[in-house]
Amino acid sequence: MLNLAGKKALVTGIANNRSIAWGIAQQLHAAGAEIGITYLPDDKGKAERKIAELTEPLSPSLFVPCNVQNDEQLEATFQTVQDKWGSLDILIHCLAFAGKEELTGDFSKTSRAGFSQALEISTYSLSQMASFAKPLMTNGGSIVTLTYLGGVRVVPNYNVMGIAKAGLEMTVRYLAAELGKENIRVNAISAGPIRTLASSAIGGILDMIHHVEEVAPLGRTVTQTEVGNATAFLCSDLASGITGQVLYVDAGYAIMGM
Ligand code: NAD
Repeated sequence: MLNLAGKKALVTGIANNRSIAWGIAQQLHAAGAEIGITYLPDDKGKAERKIAELTEPLSPSLFVPCNVQNDEQLEATFQTVQDKWGSLDILIHCLAFAGKEELTGDFSKTSRAGFSQALEISTYSLSQMASFAKPLMTNGGSIVTLTYLGGVRVVPNYNVMGIAKAGLEMTVRYLAAELGKENIRVNAISAGPIRTLASSAIGGILDMIHHVEEVAPLGRTVTQTEVGNATAFLCSDLASGITGQVLYVDAGYAIMGM
């Protein structure tokens, strides 16, 4: 039975009620996990208030600001985990960023700054977070990140984010190899396109979704809840033999040739 009772799960990447991380947090909570939340702070504290209100029904026992570009905030986040929880079982890395100007037009026009920013936030942050999580996962653990097909095949306008996701999927494998001896499993879910704040920055996201609805074996794209359910499985003992993998939760789209 899928049971996460007694597990402590730190969830990153909730921006609003459309966020994939919100679907994941709800399903982890439904399976019995204790939830901690990190959010990207803004100057006026608006994000904090909004996300606190949204996540209140899950009674998070940790709620901390964490911009992954800020080393002090990252360190403070995991210090809080250490102080309040003492250990960590589950880490959900569900964040990414690329400037809107990088997500349309010619890939060859990607700027140096845009490339660095996209890979720092979307790719490097996973290994950084894993290195903080490693000493806290004293009973083993599960790390799950979110990727997309655009990291293995060319998807129009996905551009630099495709490079970031390719790097992310390889990061999963290197981390899985390193952390396996601590019984820490590291996997990625490759989700089909879902309308969210981040995906709305990609040129033609609605066309992408319509195309998936036409081509995918299930005749539709997926929901945040479906991604959340697959994540809960990967974090549970039911997936104890699975590490270093990319699990497609995409209504079957990736198997199609035409
Ligand atoms: P979202 O906008 O709801 O989530 C993106 C999150 O990244 C936000 O919570 C944002 O605050 C956070 N973030 C951005 N920069 C950050 C930083 N510097 N520090 C900390 N957090 C930061 O969108 P989403 O679609 O739910 O994206 C979540 C993950 O799912 C991303 O990795 C995305 O690439 C991936 N994904 C999305 C889709 C899709 O179609 N929506 C498909 C496959 C994979």
